Amino acid sequence: MQSADVIIVGASLSAAAAAKRLVDAGLHTIILERQELPRHKICSGILSPRGHRFLLENFGPIPREALHDPTSCRGVSFHFPSRVSMSMDFFGGTTPHLHRRYSDHWAIKQSGAEVHDQTSFAGMEDTGRHVIVNARRRGEDVQYRARWVIGADGPSSLVVRSVYPDYAKQIPWFFVGQKFHDIIDCPLDEDYFHFWFHPGLGHYTWSHARDGKQIVGVGFKRGDNFDAKHRNVVKYLGDVHGVKLAEHSSHEGCAENFGPSLINRYVFGKGNVLITGQAAGFLNMIGEGMSCALHSGAISGEAVVEARLRNRPVQEMYRKMIASEVRRTTDQWNPLKIAFDRPHEADFPEALMKLSLRERGLVLRDMWRFVVLYKEFKWGRRIAAAAMHRLMTLGYPEKRWL
Ligand SMILES: Cc1cc2nc3c(=O)[nH]c(=O)nc-3n(C[C@H](O)[C@H](O)[C@H](O)COP(=O)(O)OP(=O)(O)OC[C@H]3O[C@@H](n4cnc5c(N)ncnc54)[C@H](O)[C@@H]3O)c2cc1C
Repeated sequence: MQSADVIIVGASLSAAAAAKRLVDAGLHTIILERQELPRHKICSGILSPRGHRFLLENFGPIPREALHDPTSCRGVSFHFPSRVSMSMDFFGGTTPHLHRRYSDHWAIKQSGAEVHDQTSFAGMEDTGRHVIVNARRRGEDVQYRARWVIGADGPSSLVVRSVYPDYAKQIPWFFVGQKFHDIIDCPLDEDYFHFWFHPGLGHYTWSHARDGKQIVGVGFKRGDNFDAKHRNVVKYLGDVHGVKLAEHSSHEGCAENFGPSLINRYVFGKGNVLITGQAAGFLNMIGEGMSCALHSGAISGEAVVEARLRNRPVQEMYRKMIASEVRRTTDQWNPLKIAFDRPHEADFPEALMKLSLRERGLVLRDMWRFVVLYKEFKWGRRIAAAAMHRLMTLGYPEKRWL
């Protein structure tokens, strides 16, 4: 059995950030990753300015191989069924278009942690004094003993399942899939990430340029038909935007736990086990999850360092410290914050005000119709309750967290 102060499950950005804090504080940290590194990660790779700052401050300049082409993104373009479009630049200039295979591997290496790839977390037992982690490496069982475990294993987290076996049944699951097309003609500005607020296309519809191809992506409630949804979007892009694409050359998709950050239903773990990143439910508006993965990951690492220093239970530390990231993320979905503050990293109110009065009316109507698509999940009352709590107490209620 191998021993460490901390085992982190998953070698992604939240893991790199957590590991950086732990290694800097002198803790022996082992990261377990089920795939061989550098590993593929399905992602558009558009990092928000806050995420960009985090990478620069903690890991240094991003190497060229960790970027796709175009290497940067200016902002986001929203498109509406009424045929109004609006583009918003990110605050503070362009942001990097990360190639997740290499950016994540680079950040993990920069953290200085020991990495065991091709090693899949399978289960664990928290004895109170330490955690025994069971894993599989190339068909063999391996065991680790650690004082603390951090689950940074993404949306379909096995760490979450082993702490809360029923959790996966309590939340709605979405499927997001993207297909890569050769471009015949594409008038969509390649400097922007394009998103459609269109209930007829799906819950999440996007397109952007990457390495000479055009990505067309769709997100919808699990159970619908990917090919049919995607075909519908490609036809719409052709009819409405004049986009002409060749048949796709490859495709990919995965399950997403979209929802917990909207309704302040995060999962932070129990005893000596912390959950962070998207596994904990962090996801910003338009599915931007890298910046909150980095920040929540760093906080999970800091919580362990603090708990050790002060000889306090790690959950007590983590739940106090993570409240700031909960505010950052859940504010992005809070209607009061959207209306009266600037919770996002691009200026939606300014872009809206640039439109004519009639267009503004159409945009607000189309956005409302889009939101109605999510009615079946019954999030409205919980979002309103969380927004009121935020207004009265300056935070979100901790009792909603698992
Ligand atoms: C199609 C798509 C597009 C996206 N586009 C963007 C975007 O443009 N910008 C943005 O900011 N975010 C985007 N996101 C979201 C973003 O990718 C995630 O929010 C972010 O990667 C979460 O990081 P994480 O560290 O929490 O976990 P993840 O990146 O999900 O990584 C989890 C890691 O854990 C490993 N793992 C899983 N299970 C085990 C196990 N049992 N044992 C060992 N290892 C395990 C996985 O292999 C993986 O390496 C997108 C997501 C999707 C699906």
